Amino acid sequence: MCIFCKIINNELPSNIVLENDDFMAFHDINPKAPVHILAIPKIHVESFNEVTPSTMKNMTKFMQDVAKEMGIDESGYRVVTNVGDDGAQEVKHLHFHILGGAKLAWSHLSDADPKGKF
Ligand code: AMP
Ligand code: ZN
Repeated sequence: MCIFCKIINNELPSNIVLENDDFMAFHDINPKAPVHILAIPKIHVESFNEVTPSTMKNMTKFMQDVAKEMGIDESGYRVVTNVGDDGAQEVKHLHFHILGGAKLAWSHLSDADPKGKF
């Protein structure tokens, strides 16, 4: 079982900020911003590549509610999901990083020439 499924099953601890029957949101153990929440579906979906539009429909509302719960909906935030090797996905259970609480950097994302493909 993957580590996020273990968190869902209460086999691993987490610091939950919001939860319903289908989704869960908890603090990232290694935060990259003053607010860094992970939002996940309770069903095991490997990544954004596999998620269905119907799951995303409710997940969208859930993430909006997480931003409100954390008080960052007005100040602004970033939603990120890493997919696969090039996306630097470490945990193979779909999760959205919700980052905020400060002005976020938007700069160096790769050593490859960003203009190389166009
Ligand atoms: P990713 O690289 O997109 O797969 O991100 C995985 C994220 O999960 C990283 O930001 C980790 O800090 C976070 N993480 C890993 N294990 C835990 C855990 N047990 N509780 C909370 N966050 C975790
Ligand atoms: Zn899982």
